[in-house]
Amino acid sequence: MAEEGDLNRNNQRLLRKTKFKGTDHLQYVWALQCERVECGHVYGANGSDFHLRRCPKCDGGAKGI
Ligand SMILES: [Zn+2]
Repeated sequence: MAEEGDLNRNNQRLLRKTKFKGTDHLQYVWALQCERVECGHVYGANGSDFHLRRCPKCDGGAKGI
């Protein structure tokens, strides 16, 4: 289970778990931030996707929710 502050293999930081329902079964939206200095994009993703997420802005990842 991921914790707030964790970094995934694509340099996406888990900022916090929100109370908003995600688009996947029983998932909540987690706020992620791209750690690349020149980017810093913040977006939402299903908690279940955290380990796979790539930045939607600079790394061709799926659009945030
Ligand atoms: Zn980025």
